[in-house]
Amino acid sequence: WITTNTRAYDVAVHSSGRIPLGIKRKARRVVVTGGAGFVGSHLVDRLISRGDSVIVVDNFFTGRKENVMHHFGNPNFELIRHDVVEPLLLEVDQIYHLACPASPVHYKFNPVKTIKTNVVGTLNMLGLAKRVGARFLLTSTSEVYGDPLQHPQKETYWGNVNPIGVRSCYDEGKRTAETLTMDYHRGAGVEVRIARIFNTYGPRMCLDDGRVVSNFVAQALRKEALTVYGDGKQTRSFQYVSDLVEGLMRLMEGEHVGPFNLGNPGEFTMLELAKVVQETIDPEAKIDYRPNTEDDPHMRKPDISRAKELLGWEPKVDLRKGLPLMVSDFRQRIFGDQKEGAT
Ligand code: NAD
Ligand code: UDP
Ligand code: UDP
Repeated sequence: WITTNTRAYDVAVHSSGRIPLGIKRKARRVVVTGGAGFVGSHLVDRLISRGDSVIVVDNFFTGRKENVMHHFGNPNFELIRHDVVEPLLLEVDQIYHLACPASPVHYKFNPVKTIKTNVVGTLNMLGLAKRVGARFLLTSTSEVYGDPLQHPQKETYWGNVNPIGVRSCYDEGKRTAETLTMDYHRGAGVEVRIARIFNTYGPRMCLDDGRVVSNFVAQALRKEALTVYGDGKQTRSFQYVSDLVEGLMRLMEGEHVGPFNLGNPGEFTMLELAKVVQETIDPEAKIDYRPNTEDDPHMRKPDISRAKELLGWEPKVDLRKGLPLMVSDFRQRIFGDQKEGAT
């Protein structure tokens, strides 16, 4: 479902700076790469609801039309099937650059493609931002800290990353994307923003995503055992998607380049997470221990002091409040209209 990029919003603004009577105020034109994905589609909802004109650019590797199809027919919404590894010409004011698979299962599927997306894709979107004078926001990741030797992680920490491991296509890819972003900022004066996102969950995550929250929720709903990798003592901090979207928008609209950690500092071992899932969905759910994956970070927890101070942002939805919101979406997608599994 593709539309062209011709619009009535490109009206000239009067040279006085005021908008002449009878001419519509120019809407902000925003590109969201990866906008058909999990985080991107929630961001698009917020941007559309505040009146922006939104262009989603997505190759549908992990994204789905279902995530954005409620906007089809809205003149403020366009969807372009495009791979960001190829150049793209558009006229826009802001670029939220999210295009990149985020789940380890997906980003390890074709690692060369993942690193091309992070490096060439980011280069193209920065080239676009430079040409049209758009503000550019990179969604980087807590994975830039690797298997961290500092805890919790502050933005000033440079990380502990294996450059030749199975995760490197993603974490080294994102580190290079951050470098490119800063070099376009320093060298070409592009207005940039960098967010380092920590583990995020919520409705519209892929059911077969392989990430721990989506796995546990789908498994508990299907009455399968929860697959805990390793001894389950590794930690993560889980952020509900609406908190992240609020943080991304504040970052884009604010005056600070970053990088900013955006995550929920509530820290859980995987066994503790399994317990919350059991309490929320099925207290009888069993645990099935599996071998852990290579280079799995032992712990992760954001220090969000910088975002609190400079963006006035902090997460509002804790795991016990956010999980049920995701469960109802998963239940609907797994069981459809059937009644089984409903509690
Ligand atoms: P997702 O996989 O649901 O979404 C990624 C989207 O990008 C998908 O719609 C996919 O089809 C699209 N895409 C991938 N490669 C592309 C390409 N070459 N060209 C065009 N589109 C492409 O993942 P998500 O969880 O929504 O993550 C969004 C962004 O946030 C990613 O950049 C990810 O690295 C970052 N991030 C997410 C998390 C998290 O926990 N969700 C954590 C850290 C960082
Ligand atoms: N680019 C793009 N859209 C644009 C402008 C540039 O996709 O509107 C791509 C361009 O094809 C190039 C990359 O962005 O591969 C970097 O562009 P830049 O102008 O910074 O570098 P150059 O083209 O001089 O290498
Ligand atoms: N994990 C798990 N069971 C699963 C999937 C993942 O125990 O079914 C663990 C994984 O080993 C890691 C943590 O959960 O320690 C988070 O994994 P995820 O893939 O969600 O995100 P990551 O933070 O590793 O990118």
